[in-house]
Amino acid sequence: MHNVVKRTFILILVVVAYLGGMIFLGYEIVNNSSEWVMHQSSPYWVTEPVNYINSVYDANGVCLLKLETITDEDGNEIQKLIRNEDDELLRTATLHALGGPYLEIGITGKFTGVPLDPEYEYDILNGLHVQAQDNESKDFYLTLDADVCKTAYEQLNGRNGVVGVYNYKTGEIVCMVSTPAFDPSNPPADNAALEKDYPESTYNKMLMLTYTPGSIFKIVTAACAIENNLPNLYTRTFDCDGALEVPGFDSKVICNSVHGRVNFERALNCSCNWVFGKLAIELGPEKLQATAERLGFGEAFEVDRHAIAKSTIELEGISDITLGWVGIGQHTTRVNPCMMMTLMGAIANEGQAVKPYYVEEAHSAYDDTVLYQAQTETTDAIQLNTDTAIKLKKLLRSNVQNYYTDDRFPGLEMCGKTGTAEVGDTNNAWFVGFSQREDFPYAVVVMIEKSSESGSMAAIPVANNVLQSMIGG
Ligand SMILES: [Zn+2]
Repeated sequence: MHNVVKRTFILILVVVAYLGGMIFLGYEIVNNSSEWVMHQSSPYWVTEPVNYINSVYDANGVCLLKLETITDEDGNEIQKLIRNEDDELLRTATLHALGGPYLEIGITGKFTGVPLDPEYEYDILNGLHVQAQDNESKDFYLTLDADVCKTAYEQLNGRNGVVGVYNYKTGEIVCMVSTPAFDPSNPPADNAALEKDYPESTYNKMLMLTYTPGSIFKIVTAACAIENNLPNLYTRTFDCDGALEVPGFDSKVICNSVHGRVNFERALNCSCNWVFGKLAIELGPEKLQATAERLGFGEAFEVDRHAIAKSTIELEGISDITLGWVGIGQHTTRVNPCMMMTLMGAIANEGQAVKPYYVEEAHSAYDDTVLYQAQTETTDAIQLNTDTAIKLKKLLRSNVQNYYTDDRFPGLEMCGKTGTAEVGDTNNAWFVGFSQREDFPYAVVVMIEKSSESGSMAAIPVANNVLQSMIGG
């Protein structure tokens, strides 16, 4: 009898454990199985490493990439993405937008083997990830203008940096050039050669890196002063003697010149460090941080599957003298070129920040069905109120009219700000701005690394020549 009780007890235990296990398994299948399948070791991935790009065209129908059948060295017919064979400049200038050898970015890096709609549908019945458009061969149509990209590459003229131009009303990126760049049809032999001859070329600097802003940051300090209604901001005068004394500190915030008596507008025109250092200290770190965050610092919105690098500002526990340097764009502050370009667009649009993109459409290569169509979208990564935007727009227009001069941007009704950020013994030479012409709604960012010249000398001509090439046809 004792044995029967014992066996019954064990049997009940086994049944309970079995039922418990089944309930657990059922729960896991319903709730978590998509995660098991998503695991890299899972055999249930439907996505295969095949090439889904049939062709890529620029905004004017210029073919940038095309899948062609070629005969390889062993006499086998293979399919390969071929770039324009006759135009090395075109291939080099579009390297970062298209991706290429060593670069898992751009169209080839981000749109190959990944569905257009990156949300995978998990099918609970067959345990597979199913994606309707997954294996469609596609033709991509970009917003980039290959000729403008070529002009920008030529304008950089061997210098390292970034040129970006976008339509601030629609979001279309016309130009996105990052240097150094190599010819993807004739790439460096190995990683060592890549590092030596083309440092940082695996990054699209426009989207993926950040830089010391220098005086283009004065736009943020100005926005903060406007938003916080600093008393008499527009009527008070300042006396720049070339070096701002900060109570309690021996060192000073050094100005680039002795500007004498200036008002707020004139101080931004001539980029007076004395005034903007003083304004930053008056505003204090909390207000400056809050404005910087509203204008896009710490945000990483996506541009066609690339999350842009976050712009950063560090103000916690900061001393007054250091805060003065932050106010003029030095210290540890870093900005992303695409974020600055989008901010320019938001100012031009009187507050509305339109998100940049460069993939306009993707069509099925079989029947030309439109599989993807870009939409004009605003981003809340940049929050600029209309009143502040209008005031900033007037100030940036005044910079060009009263300081850089319209002669340097013929016919563009340009608004903007230069920056000459000190990095070691050299400069990041910046220009950020936009044309306020209704029929030419373009914002621009130019940044030249390790320049021996100022933003005004080095970056303005690049910005102007690239924009003029767009007007010229
Ligand atoms: Zn000054």
